[in-house]
Amino acid sequence: MKYALVTGGSRGIGKAVSIKLAEMGYKVVINYASNEEQANNTLATIRENGGDGELLKFDVSNTEECAEVLAKWQEEHPNEYIEVLVNNAGIRRDNLMVFVEPEDWFGVLNTNLSSFYNVTRPLLTKMLRKKNGRIINMASLSGLNGLPGQTNYSAAKGGLIAATKALAQEVAKKKVTVNAVAPGFIKTDMVDGLDVDGLTAQIPAGRFGEAREVAELVGFLASENAAYINGEVISINGALYT
Ligand code: NAP
Repeated sequence: MKYALVTGGSRGIGKAVSIKLAEMGYKVVINYASNEEQANNTLATIRENGGDGELLKFDVSNTEECAEVLAKWQEEHPNEYIEVLVNNAGIRRDNLMVFVEPEDWFGVLNTNLSSFYNVTRPLLTKMLRKKNGRIINMASLSGLNGLPGQTNYSAAKGGLIAATKALAQEVAKKKVTVNAVAPGFIKTDMVDGLDVDGLTAQIPAGRFGEAREVAELVGFLASENAAYINGEVISINGALYT
């Protein structure tokens, strides 16, 4: 069985990605932070569609916890390895820089950027040994352009994009690809509370994106057909570039 791990697979984009990878034949390890009901819901949908997966609860911002949980998973699956990793879990805590408290700076940096280190490092050695792996990082338009009111989030996603490009060059020889996806505005819980009408007016496509549209892109990057795309950041934003 081929395994894929999707962090933040309980809701939103991660849920859609989990469902897509299961359709592609992966057994999907669905990570979540606290929302077990929603994680079970993702798994139930996968099973209804004829696929399979399992839940794996851990906090992507916690280095020790990630190392422990992923080492235990590997012990319990001695003949398997995770060949597709989607670093998707993320949070935003928007505020003007002058009001950003330390917990909102470090919370966003740790969940959106340090998580890349926490989850990728324990899984990378196997991918390199097997000479096969796909790492897909969920960045953001904010990480490309920087958005006011999101200095913490822009810094984290910008860092994630740079880390994507750096790691791709380290591992390309071993047939591991590392790419980033940079969504604009996608209809999920994360955009709750935003001025949807005002923002929609600024999007040339005239609408927010759907999680399944992002999932299709991730599915392509995970596929064999994307073997020569490496170190790239691909926007999916309805032409919202400014
Ligand atoms: P969402 O609907 O709010 O879902 C967030 C997911 O991340 C949930 O599954 C949540 O788990 C998980 N998560 C949060 N903190 C975690 C932690 N410390 N450890 C493990 N899991 C954690 O968000 P989304 O919109 O799908 O966003 C997914 C990714 O896309 C994020 O990286 C986000 O920054 C990025 N993105 C989103 C948009 C957008 O417009 N939606 C745009 C650009 C980029 P629980 O269910 O357990 O809480």
